[in-house]
Amino acid sequence: MIFGQARGMDPSATGPADARWAVPGGPVSVAVVGSTGSIGTQALDVIAAAPDRFRVVALGAHRSVDALVAQALRFRPGVVAVGDPALASDLARRLPAGTEVVAGADGLAVAAATAEVVVNGVVGFSGLRVTLAALESGRRLALANKESIIAGAPVVARARRTPGAEVLPVDSEHCALHQCLRAGRPSDVARLLLTASGGPFRGRSREELAGVGVAEALAHPTWTMGPKISVDSSTLMNKGLEVIEAHELFGVGYDAIDVVVHPQSVVHSMVEFTDGAVVAQLSRPDMRLPIGYALAYPERLEVAYGAVDWRQLARLDFEEPDRTAFPCLDLAFRAGRTGDLAPAWLNAANEVAVAAFLDGRIAWSAIAEVVAATLDDYDAPPGGERTVDDVLAADADARRRAGTVVRERAAA
Ligand code: MG
Repeated sequence: MIFGQARGMDPSATGPADARWAVPGGPVSVAVVGSTGSIGTQALDVIAAAPDRFRVVALGAHRSVDALVAQALRFRPGVVAVGDPALASDLARRLPAGTEVVAGADGLAVAAATAEVVVNGVVGFSGLRVTLAALESGRRLALANKESIIAGAPVVARARRTPGAEVLPVDSEHCALHQCLRAGRPSDVARLLLTASGGPFRGRSREELAGVGVAEALAHPTWTMGPKISVDSSTLMNKGLEVIEAHELFGVGYDAIDVVVHPQSVVHSMVEFTDGAVVAQLSRPDMRLPIGYALAYPERLEVAYGAVDWRQLARLDFEEPDRTAFPCLDLAFRAGRTGDLAPAWLNAANEVAVAAFLDGRIAWSAIAEVVAATLDDYDAPPGGERTVDDVLAADADARRRAGTVVRERAAA
């Protein structure tokens, strides 16, 4: 199979980077980092269903060795990475002879650099190194780790300029936007409309949300996800982070990005063009579609994930987000507009606040308070072009500040 031939209707979709795909005689090599998590296992599902297209050459996980060994025995990658170095020797003992084992945060980055396409399904800020390793090696990055492009924006933007490097979003909304944007030129775009399910607390007032607990926050109506992103979805911080992600990915200004609540999660996002036309992407909620899109682009998979059955699609509702009950949305806009390292502060403060909520140390409504109080202390540090160390320092500073606010709130 030869990749990069425009078989579809959109020949303009094949760019200069596609020269890499025009290598006859073999599937595209894929590294899946965060392979034992929700995105990682679904990525392996997609790959297993298309063995003539994709081949797993590297797997990496933080510390789920049992699951990692089972995956390695099934997919037979040449490289297996484990984030926790203490687990490396146990892992090596259980893998087929000849498998290279790499360990630590560097090991995950090494694994990322081995393939033509890197799926980054790492959870949280620690995914930054994998993102940078993939882009600086000139790979296609199938990015599910939105934190890295948000918090690491100044350095990720630079790494994206590496020849061959490209980012394909593995986030249902951004995958939808990527598809919708193919309907026009960048100068024809009037607005990006990100849809939000509204989460489990849609329709509740600020007062009604004061006492909600962890189990309620984790009960997402349409998507099954990890605990961190489920809580982010309940506060609308996930949507706020996605606004920043959209700004970074597509270079659209914050005044031209809107959020629309759409409880059915069938319309995954929309692009409004200058002539008034709105182009939307619809499918049932299934992350394997965005994963497959990112792996196969500019081609499309032959396997249909989440195809819409019109006979069962009774109605599609749209409403304005409640910005008073869900203040995290505007906090994200504020950090995005401030720019530079403010999104790194937002992300770090949110990670600290969500962890404190999941541990039962603060109330759900205090998550936004912790983020707001932390952002109040943000000042752009001096200096010009940002480095990874600047991002790491911003992350550490914001975590320290947010930790103090959490202790104040917990004691109150
Ligand atoms: Mg999303």
